[in-house]
Amino acid sequence: MRVAFLGLGIMGHSMATNLVKAGHEVTVWNRTPGKIVEGAAIAPTPAAAAQGAEVVWMCVADTDAVEQVLFGADGVEQSLTQGMIVADSSTISPFSTVKFAERVRSKGADYVDAPMTGSKIGAANGTLIFMVGGNEASIDRIGPLFAAMGKKYFRMGDVGKGQATKLAMNLQIALIFEGFAEALTLATKLGVDPQKLLALIDATMVKSGVVEYKGPFILHRDFTPNFPLRLMHKDILLALEAAKEARVKLPGLETVEEIYEMATEDGNRDLDYAATLTLLEKWAGVQVKSEAA
Ligand code: NAP
Repeated sequence: MRVAFLGLGIMGHSMATNLVKAGHEVTVWNRTPGKIVEGAAIAPTPAAAAQGAEVVWMCVADTDAVEQVLFGADGVEQSLTQGMIVADSSTISPFSTVKFAERVRSKGADYVDAPMTGSKIGAANGTLIFMVGGNEASIDRIGPLFAAMGKKYFRMGDVGKGQATKLAMNLQIALIFEGFAEALTLATKLGVDPQKLLALIDATMVKSGVVEYKGPFILHRDFTPNFPLRLMHKDILLALEAAKEARVKLPGLETVEEIYEMATEDGNRDLDYAATLTLLEKWAGVQVKSEAA
């Protein structure tokens, strides 16, 4: 398929690379010039990238970024044609998604929200999992692109439901990680080797994908961003905003949001969200590291 890929960050660069590898004809654009994807053409603007594309795929930071890419100066809107599909893998507001879709559809194109999970490693390996909202026929048409970038996609309902699901998913990741980080901090302070705690967790019902993924990074004290803290904080705020709008109370997430606020003030916004652990360590006066390390 002829695909315009917009946004070459941690996730987008690997996703566009996997589209090229699967044989699709890809044109890329990134706000800050200079990023390339081997085998893909480069366009100077979103409108130029979208020109003649069957599918425009976005993966940018947040709701404002998607709005600018779509409707700003030299935005995708200028190049929308009948039958084109715009897909968005950024994590953004479900409410704005519905508005963006209406505006795109008024130009004869269709809109699918397709946020994903799997982080940097999933993007690199082509094993992302997408949660998708939109028309069945459009989702079917872009099936080969999901297959090139991921291992599975789930149809969650009409447009916006992919984003709503993603907020419910990241809410859990933030809370599960917070539980893990608090357990590591307490156990370390009480003199337990965190490596031994990890082995125990793995043998019990407490085990989780979050712990399995983040455990080794923590033991190596590697907080380089796979999923930057600033983006998880954005997702927490999006979930709280959606909850307020829907009159749902999320007391656990409200508390965790305060920790992200403090971790940001502490200078951790561009590190991985696992760096929220360092705040707990500071308060406890310990550092989580294995005796063997
Ligand atoms: P990232 O590395 O920070 O990349 C962000 C991308 O958005 C960059 O290409 C950046 O361009 C672009 N951008 C930011 N503001 C923009 C604007 N106003 N106009 C146009 N482009 C703009 O982020 P990422 O980790 O790839 O994440 C991208 C999206 O996927 C986010 O919504 C994130 O929440 C979501 N996501 C991330 C992960 C993960 O583990 N990393 C997992 C699932 C979902 P520049 O190069 O010019 O800054």
